[in-house]
Amino acid sequence: VAAMRAQATRGGATGYPPVKKLHSTKKLRVLITGGAGFVGSNLVDKLMREGHEVTVLDNLFTGRKKNIEHWLGHPNFNLVIGDVVEPVMLEVDQIYHLACPASPPHYQYNPIKTIKTSTEGTLNMLGLAKRVKARILLASTSEIYGDPEVHPQPESYWGHVNTIGPRACYDEGKRVAETMMYAYQRQGGVEVRVARIFNTFGRRMHPNDGRVVSNFIIQALQNKDITLYGDGSQTRSFQFVDDLVDGLHALMNSNYSLPVNLGNPDEYTVGDFAATIKRLTKSSSRIVRLPSNQDDPKQRKPVITTAETHIGWRPKWSVARGLAETIAYFERELADAGGEIIP
Ligand code: NAD
Ligand code: UDP
Ligand code: UDP
Repeated sequence: VAAMRAQATRGGATGYPPVKKLHSTKKLRVLITGGAGFVGSNLVDKLMREGHEVTVLDNLFTGRKKNIEHWLGHPNFNLVIGDVVEPVMLEVDQIYHLACPASPPHYQYNPIKTIKTSTEGTLNMLGLAKRVKARILLASTSEIYGDPEVHPQPESYWGHVNTIGPRACYDEGKRVAETMMYAYQRQGGVEVRVARIFNTFGRRMHPNDGRVVSNFIIQALQNKDITLYGDGSQTRSFQFVDDLVDGLHALMNSNYSLPVNLGNPDEYTVGDFAATIKRLTKSSSRIVRLPSNQDDPKQRKPVITTAETHIGWRPKWSVARGLAETIAYFERELADAGGEIIP
């Protein structure tokens, strides 16, 4: 396949998705850490289509080569299998720093590694950004607000996090990562951007991701029990991945350097969300209640006026339209897996 693609490229037509031809003065060298993951690989597609040179740095812990294989061998694309916890020498103009497991079962699987990824990993990417004078964007999270006592959450809210609970490796890791971003801005003159990302779903979510959207859809499509943790009254607000990718890109290229919430304020109780997915998939699954997870945030919804005002962004995808596309994606994943996936 690679040889055929190389030949096709030489012949003018390409076996790759179409990419714009950018003048060399507009072409950026972009590093995406975590670029083989769910969000990262969707961002790779946007930047590759725009004609930039994209390098992915990923240790494939939760990411998949499959997510980026359509670009392997393309002259604008580089894949580096490596860990952000190790120093790395690259020459780039922009860094989207996304490397970090994001789903609770994945980040709790090896909490020490999660802490190292957010601390040492972010330090290395900031050292790199400082050396090569690249602008760096951190994929932070709504989780820095913890189990919020202010609802909905504006960026000015300082959060309510249990420092010693099972989620702390992720929450506190991201909080100190944010702190490091602004320390390097003040002390090292690094240009920083911080996106506080709220729950996101869409194509390329790992079937074994373990977060609510993939679990519920995979369970519903197989008519297996839908696993509701707790009484289902806790809330989340869900955004489709294409909106997030547009928001990350808008933030990176804006002049705004304080943290920005990126999320869709469309809020659901998790119980209603289970019923919605059951209906959309025409499933005969039962919704079963399991014990709730410790420190599970009871409510979450972004205030997005900062994004609207300063980077001209707001979500365009309704949850229903995003879910239709995501359900179709998981139907294909199920077929590829031979008809059964245990999420
Ligand atoms: P994901 O697990 O699909 O992707 C993370 C990627 O990082 C994977 O490809 C993984 O292999 C890679 N990775 C993990 N540790 C690494 C390390 N030490 N070195 C190199 N690569 C490493 O998760 P995602 O949903 O795509 O999340 C991407 C980023 O966005 C994460 O930083 C996450 O914290 C943040 N975020 C995501 C959401 C969401 O709802 N998806 C919400 C808030 C924040
Ligand atoms: N670093 C890196 N790539 C670079 C430059 C730095 O991985 O191109 C790492 C470096 O190894 C260090 C971290 O980034 O661990 C912080 O670098 P900085 O220069 O800020 O600190 P110092 O090296 O002085 O401790
Ligand atoms: N959840 C659930 N069943 C599942 C997975 C998650 O009820 O199979 C709940 C979980 O307890 C939480 C919400 O859905 O209240 C969102 O969980 P997720 O892991 O997707 O992300 P979080 O926002 O907690 O990081």
